[in-house]
Amino acid sequence: MSTRLSDIYGVIGDPIEHSLSPQMHNAAFKKLGLNCIYLPFRVTQRDLKSAALGMRALNIRGFNVTTPHKTAIVEFLDELDKTAQEVGAVNTILNDEGRLIGYDTDGLGAVRALEEQNEDPSDKRIVLIGAGGAATAIAFTLARRARSIFILNRTQHKAVKLAKDIERKLVKKVSAGSLTRDSLFEALRDADILINATSVGMYPKSKQTVATRKILHSGMVVFDIVYNPVKTLLLSEAEAAGAKTIPGVGMLVHQGAEAFKIWTNHSPPVEVMRRAVMEGLSGL
Ligand code: NAP
Repeated sequence: MSTRLSDIYGVIGDPIEHSLSPQMHNAAFKKLGLNCIYLPFRVTQRDLKSAALGMRALNIRGFNVTTPHKTAIVEFLDELDKTAQEVGAVNTILNDEGRLIGYDTDGLGAVRALEEQNEDPSDKRIVLIGAGGAATAIAFTLARRARSIFILNRTQHKAVKLAKDIERKLVKKVSAGSLTRDSLFEALRDADILINATSVGMYPKSKQTVATRKILHSGMVVFDIVYNPVKTLLLSEAEAAGAKTIPGVGMLVHQGAEAFKIWTNHSPPVEVMRRAVMEGLSGL
């Protein structure tokens, strides 16, 4: 491998101006004394292919990929790691001397966020709300570990399709259904962990929640991957029901930390990254 004097990293998405990733990664580079910089790039759908070609041409070492490009970018990459192949989406790209390799660290980020709160998902009964990009990554990663997964989504057929995909690729039984108050109430009766992987409750619609205290219970863990606001209405409702709560900031930090490892081979300074994200969130 050639010696690099400096490396450029970035995040591509549209919109991109509120991304907290530049602050998070630049703080990590600074802490480790790495001569690297991480920049936000607004890239429209039309320019996605040019952005991938440009990454190679300009020798940009790594990109994160965010909404709406996580799936569409795949066709412009040379290789996908196992998780990205299963999920069919990418949130991290490594430019390995001209070869663009795609990874998806969202699922592992969610698992690390649970583990750092001493919640090992192995052998747990998990109810996952959502069947979009983040839910897909989380479902595939947890399906290898958890005792059971029940996926509920507003648009039922997407939940059913995701469950079938996991069954086919991982040979693991996964249940799926439509998200209603009754179906959620039933599913939560004997659940250990509820994960909200929808955008419900995200700023500016922070008065919305997928569940209220009436159907949550003590003894369960409620993990909301929405990170703005840090304490969502769902987490407040869970607290009122006596449940343990885990905010989405942990996942944001750990998906970034996993990308940092892939790019630099350094152990990521997780607490520095978390502080940078919290500072960024307080300024939004
Ligand atoms: P996405 O692919 O657009 O999926 C959105 C999901 O939310 C779908 O399941 C959708 O259901 C559901 N949904 C949207 N509005 C709803 C409503 N009013 N009622 C019920 N369900 C609703 O988005 P994504 O990329 O998965 O992101 C989802 C959320 O996770 C966003 O808030 C994002 O910021 C957050 N996120 C956090 C992290 C982190 O690191 N903490 C990482 C990635 C994403 P339908 O299928 O019925 O439309």
